[in-house]
Amino acid sequence: MSTEITAGEETERGEAVERDRYDAVVIGAGISGIQSALDLGDQGYSVLLVEREPSIGGRMISLSKVFPTLDCASCITTPKMSAVARHPKVTILVNTEVERVADKDGEKEIELLRKPTYVDNRACIGCRLCEYACPVEVPDRFEQGLALTRAIAVPFTNAIPQKAVLDAEHCIFCGACARACPTDAIRYEQEPRRQTIRAGIVVAATGFKLNVGINKPQYQPKNPRNVISPLQMERLLAPHGPYGRVLRPSDGKIPESVAYVLCAGSRDKSIGVPYCSRVCCMYSIKQAMLLSGALPIADITIYYMDIRAFGKGFEEFYQNAKAMGIQFVRGKVARVNDGPNGDLILRVEMTEEDGRVEERQHDLVVLAYGIIPELESPEQVGLRAGSDGFLARPDSTRPAFAGIEGVFTAGCAAGPKDIVDSIIEAGAAASAGSAYLSQCASKTTKS
Ligand SMILES: Cc1cc2nc3c(=O)[nH]c(=O)nc-3n(C[C@H](O)[C@H](O)[C@H](O)COP(=O)(O)OP(=O)(O)OC[C@H]3O[C@@H](n4cnc5c(N)ncnc54)[C@H](O)[C@@H]3O)c2cc1C
Ligand code: SF4
Ligand code: SF4
Repeated sequence: MSTEITAGEETERGEAVERDRYDAVVIGAGISGIQSALDLGDQGYSVLLVEREPSIGGRMISLSKVFPTLDCASCITTPKMSAVARHPKVTILVNTEVERVADKDGEKEIELLRKPTYVDNRACIGCRLCEYACPVEVPDRFEQGLALTRAIAVPFTNAIPQKAVLDAEHCIFCGACARACPTDAIRYEQEPRRQTIRAGIVVAATGFKLNVGINKPQYQPKNPRNVISPLQMERLLAPHGPYGRVLRPSDGKIPESVAYVLCAGSRDKSIGVPYCSRVCCMYSIKQAMLLSGALPIADITIYYMDIRAFGKGFEEFYQNAKAMGIQFVRGKVARVNDGPNGDLILRVEMTEEDGRVEERQHDLVVLAYGIIPELESPEQVGLRAGSDGFLARPDSTRPAFAGIEGVFTAGCAAGPKDIVDSIIEAGAAASAGSAYLSQCASKTTKS
């Protein structure tokens, strides 16, 4: 008899998912993958939702508030995470990477790599006693490296599932976690395991990352600690962020002057990102508005080439930010140099004022890095890439179709987009996938 494993009923990692066929496999459990899984599950299809991180939620669960409504991001994301985790038709595998998608006998064959967590998920009760006992501090990935966690930890407060994961790269195997665990859940002997699943369709919702490591020496001062990424700023602004308020990472100073450099990793052929990343203008304006609430006496300046505020309510949002006193300076930031006391000096070509070059000092700088695909080589996974490196979307009349029969895309996997557009595309992928599954079923019935 096959046993379906839902997020509420985890198996020990390493144990087989005994069911080996689903109607749909959704790759990636960010907001897009969660939405596609919910929509397909609600139509009665069996869904396997695969996430390579230890929790579902993707990027959105780490955001502070969302433009243009300024709703709390985790207040929107957490109910969807819980709904998908409790859905009777959806099975979730975390710590699992999709390595390959192939065609087999008219269906999809999906190869999974189930990574060891060194914890028996059935036994772990998420009490964190292991975390408190562990002597090894490591950068906290959820907090974007702004805080430390332990080599064994539950990933974050509202993670789903609430299970500890051991970081084998940093663990010194001292045994303290195993001694502290009240349920004897630690399994130092776990090994990675490969597994193959069959499915009628695949929805690729593999999302995006920021090109933080781009080769732009002009934006790399000798002391880079006060030049942060926008995801780090999201954590600084989050209600339960690493410091509980906005502080400068290098010395804990309350910032008095914050600069945003837009298009820092986009619209630049020399770094391979010629396109607009679509959300940077808006999230920078959002962060600037939130900052002006958190730091009422600070100056906040946004250096931009153009502001692209194209969605519903976006232009009004931009105008509100101007009315709040946020400074918008049209100019190209040519360099970010070290200044006194950890400050940064920006050399700005004032494009609106005869190209004059000015030097401006700020104590914290946010670089709006470009959005690039999380999946670096879609072809290696058996998917198709478009000319921009994101997943292909070759037919404009079928917006979620990934160019391979039975494969659909959702959210940022096919290109940068905001949350609303990601959710719309996730719904379109579920709808197109469900139509495809019905066609396949009716062909089988006729033959
Ligand atoms: C700083 C910042 C602020 C933002 N603020 C806003 C905002 O205020 N409002 C707004 O509308 N938008 C905002 N956005 C955009 C928003 O984050 C995205 O629209 C949204 O998160 C896209 O979700 P997604 O599910 O498509 O991708 P992701 O959230 O990236 O999810 C993809 C998931 O797939 C998983 N995955 C990838 N490859 C594999 C694999 N091979 N196997 C298994 N799993 C895999 C990843 O681990 C990840 O969890 C912001 C973006 C940034 C960078
Ligand atoms: S065995 Fe590793 S994870 Fe466990 S307490 Fe020691 S260092 Fe931490
Ligand atoms: S101490 Fe054991 S039960 Fe508690 S979170 Fe750690 S592994 Fe899980």
